Amino acid sequence: MSKNWYPIINEENCIECGACFNKCSHGVYKLEGTKPVVVYNEGCVQGCRGCQSLCPAEAIQYAGDTGEKKAGGCGCGGCC
Ligand code: SF4
Ligand code: SF4
Repeated sequence: MSKNWYPIINEENCIECGACFNKCSHGVYKLEGTKPVVVYNEGCVQGCRGCQSLCPAEAIQYAGDTGEKKAGGCGCGGCC
C-alpha cells in the first residue's frame, strides 16, 4: 500500500515538545517517551498541515509535498 502524504520528522531539529502528537486526531503519531514517532502514515489527511503549523522547531515535512496550498483547507474535518 502506498500513501503519498504523511509527515516526516527531522529528529535532529525536533525538541520533543509533543505538539504534533497532541494535535493529530488521526492516530498518525505515537510517543516513545517524549519522542514522536510516525506509526500510521495512512491516517494522515492529504494536504493537512496541522502538525507542521504547530511545530516550533520546523521539524516536520511531508512526503509528497510540492509546496502547493490546497484551496479551502485540506478537508480533514477540523483537525487542523
Ligand atoms: S498533517 Fe494533519 S492528519 Fe497528518 S499527522 Fe499532521 S495533524 Fe495529523
Ligand atoms: S511538534 Fe515538532 S518539535 Fe514538537 S515533538 Fe513534534 S516534531 Fe518535535
